[in-house]
Amino acid sequence: MSYPKVTIKPAKESSILRKHPWIFSGAIKHIERELTDGEVVEVVANKGRHLGYGHFQDGSIAVRLLAFGEETFDENIFFERLQSAFALRQQLGLVDSELTNMYRLVHGEGDGLPGLIIDHYGGNLVVQCHSIGMYKSITLIVTALEKLYGNKLQSILLKSGSTLPKAYTGYEGDKCLVGKAQELSECIENGNRFLVNISGGQKTGFFIDQRENRKLLAEFCKGKKVLNTFSYTGGFSIYALNAGATFVNSVDSSQAALDLTEKNVTAQNKTVGLHKNTAADVMDFIQDFEKDYDVIVLDPPAFAKNQHARHNAVQGYKRLNGHAIRQIKPGGIIFTFSCSQVIDPPLFAHTVISAAMNEGRRVRILQRLQQPADHPISAFHPEGEYLKGLILQVE
Ligand code: SAH
Repeated sequence: MSYPKVTIKPAKESSILRKHPWIFSGAIKHIERELTDGEVVEVVANKGRHLGYGHFQDGSIAVRLLAFGEETFDENIFFERLQSAFALRQQLGLVDSELTNMYRLVHGEGDGLPGLIIDHYGGNLVVQCHSIGMYKSITLIVTALEKLYGNKLQSILLKSGSTLPKAYTGYEGDKCLVGKAQELSECIENGNRFLVNISGGQKTGFFIDQRENRKLLAEFCKGKKVLNTFSYTGGFSIYALNAGATFVNSVDSSQAALDLTEKNVTAQNKTVGLHKNTAADVMDFIQDFEKDYDVIVLDPPAFAKNQHARHNAVQGYKRLNGHAIRQIKPGGIIFTFSCSQVIDPPLFAHTVISAAMNEGRRVRILQRLQQPADHPISAFHPEGEYLKGLILQVE
């Protein structure tokens, strides 16, 4: 099959040859004919040499490449990529695990499928298309997922209302494409039970990317008083309680998230310590709170969604971390995170260190944290790294 050709400027080929999947609009010399968003295009070098195939979309990133060089592009590509993504999760011990049934099956560029996110919740899949090309490929994706999971598949929910470009009018709305999603899915993560609202919750329903960091937090919580800020449905809170925390305060601005946190606390099949929900803006709450917390979690939403917002985001992280460092009990532990892609790990560490300097307390970095292996980063697409964190100990 032949596809319309997009010709790249001579100086802009090298990143494609290095398998970087994004082609910016400024790198394009010529487009064969007028294209509609989401069309498959063939990308060629200035002198006509074939470079790859990808999805076109009018915007700063004009083409997202799915196949490079000699790789073929046909209908099987989705099944092949999904099969490879599934094999990786199997290799990681996430498929058919008795302790964990939530994992990310597809992490965009990291799985060779730029513009596509798929999360798995105990047989229920949630598909988020970030590009129009992926949305237009949804039938192929669903067929491939059915083949991959067979009778283990319970439902596939298409949930792309908040991830497709706002100006795109072709989206028909979130809906179940296979089976029927329950309102709340019963899930388990490292042995901790959670109810997940995949259709009504934020993102795909749960922040799966913090799984390994929650496990680490548990190690610090026995007999401790824990403050979990930006707590959503209580991911870190439940781990802390199950690990023997005596008291956990979950602070979030979303009442719906806090209500589900309460349900999650009661869903644990053992007696746990005291839990409190606090509905508040963390940036206000954090300025003045009780000084007897042993452990504090700071897991804000992305403060910066692009380069322009970076400076303000840095100030936000500095304030947040400064307040926590100032008020934590001596010997206390802080788990601090940033999920802003434009704030790289050195900048984040620098920001936290500069907050620590201002507070005049002795602060040690115990460990650097990142996103888990089911959120892989293509070696050729460093932009795929977004979650970073530090474990601090404050004297
Ligand atoms: N730590 C969570 C994920 C946090 S996601 C987990 O492990 O599941 C970020 C959360 O911050 C969301 O629940 C959102 O409702 C909340 N939020 C965003 N801005 C906020 C603010 N200013 N104050 C309080 N909560 C906020």
